[in-house]
Amino acid sequence: MSIQVFGLPVSRGVAIGRAVLVASSRVDVAHYFIEPAQIEAEIRRLRKARDMVVAELTALQAEVGGEAHAELVALLDVHLMLLQDETLAEATRQWIIDRHYNAEWALSTQLEVIARQFDEMEDEYLRDRKADLEQVVERVISALGRLGAGKTDVAPLQTARDFGGEDPLVLVAADIAPADMIQFKRSVFTGFVTDVGGRNSHTAIVARSLDIPAVVGARESSRIVKQDDWIIIDGDAGVVIVNPSPIVLEEYRFRQRQVELERARLDRLRHTPAVTLDGEPVELLANIELPSDAQAVLDAGAVGVGLFRSEFLFMNRPGGLPGEEEQYEAYRRVVQALDGLPVTIRTIDIGADKPLDRLPAAEARHEHILNPALGLRAIRWSLAEPEMFGEQLRAILRASAHGKVRLLVPMVAQMREVRLLFAAIERARQELRSRAQPFADVQVGAMIEVPAAALMLPALLEHFDFVSIGTNDLIQYTLAIDRADETVSHLYDPWHPAVLQLIALTIREARARGKEVCVCGEMAGDPAFTELLLGMGLRSFSMHPTQVSAIKKRILRVDAGGWSDRLPVVLAAEDPQSVCERLQRAAPVPEGT
Ligand code: PEP
Ligand code: MG
Repeated sequence: MSIQVFGLPVSRGVAIGRAVLVASSRVDVAHYFIEPAQIEAEIRRLRKARDMVVAELTALQAEVGGEAHAELVALLDVHLMLLQDETLAEATRQWIIDRHYNAEWALSTQLEVIARQFDEMEDEYLRDRKADLEQVVERVISALGRLGAGKTDVAPLQTARDFGGEDPLVLVAADIAPADMIQFKRSVFTGFVTDVGGRNSHTAIVARSLDIPAVVGARESSRIVKQDDWIIIDGDAGVVIVNPSPIVLEEYRFRQRQVELERARLDRLRHTPAVTLDGEPVELLANIELPSDAQAVLDAGAVGVGLFRSEFLFMNRPGGLPGEEEQYEAYRRVVQALDGLPVTIRTIDIGADKPLDRLPAAEARHEHILNPALGLRAIRWSLAEPEMFGEQLRAILRASAHGKVRLLVPMVAQMREVRLLFAAIERARQELRSRAQPFADVQVGAMIEVPAAALMLPALLEHFDFVSIGTNDLIQYTLAIDRADETVSHLYDPWHPAVLQLIALTIREARARGKEVCVCGEMAGDPAFTELLLGMGLRSFSMHPTQVSAIKKRILRVDAGGWSDRLPVVLAAEDPQSVCERLQRAAPVPEGT
């Protein structure tokens, strides 16, 4: 039976494929395809890992044996029994043989299948055995890691389509942390669905940067969808269709082809300069998360990096955080790849929905920090960790010896922070001078993402060379709506008059003082806002590389002067969105651009 699940559209397009269900706790398990020639070796690896765990548990049992620990011995018996159960072993082998999944992936897939069967059992005792099974599987996955051939560092195949012409795969999970999502940058999946998450949560932002269809906040989807179900992800409407009928499938396949054609058309604009109809040049920059994204910036025809979210270098680091040297190499790589184009490196923005440790954001929210979005985040965190901050500042400054680097600081809100920040930058410069390490003049900018910063811009601009408006957080903090919480996502409104007024104010004040201003939040990459932002006087946009051509197409058709005349009408409106849309319809654009 076909079922529809509704969520929030976060990344456009249509994905059609078989569902791969991954439990949140196992999202970080390596997912890659093995070559057919490796199948036997992978099965041997699995067997070896299982034997290792059997040996461990047997030894443990012998150690604790005796009456006093009868319960523990019985529990270990259950674990050994589950471990040696042929249903688990055989079905796992089958995933390896049929699908070419690596052993960890095959095992966690089979766990999902069996876990559901446990969930449906009437008998409470048997239902409770699910936890035992999970523990056993965790042990085997950990043993596979110890065996070393786990190849977590091996690049997964680029896309599922490369997989011997077999069905494409889409990932369905209750939750995916940004740190895990980033690992899917080069993954096999052609679409994502999660039960939780807001439209502009960092998980959603990373999904969008992957440029594959994604829906978040599709509550219950991970419960409704079964392993291997066919599903359609409609990333435009935020709908997931489980087991679609042939007619619906055909309709979506048609839409998929349309999307591909549109992309090909947009691609042709890559090398066209972004200039409005009335001759205003516009700078289109790109947002990146990892050094490996640099090529995508160039391929998209962006003229630099407007936001390098450096915190992603600090995630998935069980062995410790990257020090000065490692960070310097990462920044240098991007700066050299950009070959003279500007690279704006944002200092670490950790906290809120991007915790440094491996705690899922939901857990951090409820159990450890009362209000993570209002807590020790971004510049606050950096100032509280002076040693680490010094390392990062030195690494960024050193990268400036190789090209045009700009330093951007997230979540500035207090003058006290500004003073501490510039003192830290000065200390970093002094240290480099004393080491005789070269660095160039680096412009320092503030992210305007807290209303306080927008309202005190003149004071901030006494210190900063430029500003970049982080609309994702500006909306969250202006409207008091957690950007990662799907239960209030309907209230997260970029069209809210207060949000638009703060953006307009920031652009006006910065320009009046001759300072550069950019928008690097998701609104910059959303064509619905292009005219309005141009009308506010914005001439620098930073977005996912994948959005650059779509925004350029829009810019080529806009009369920026006309929109600055219309701006007061939109800003004074109670419902700016409908006024803006009406004005857009009334100002038809020439076709064929
Ligand atoms: C923003 O808040 O708009 C922004 C660009 O930063 P991030 O999304 O990383 O918080
Ligand atoms: Mg932000």
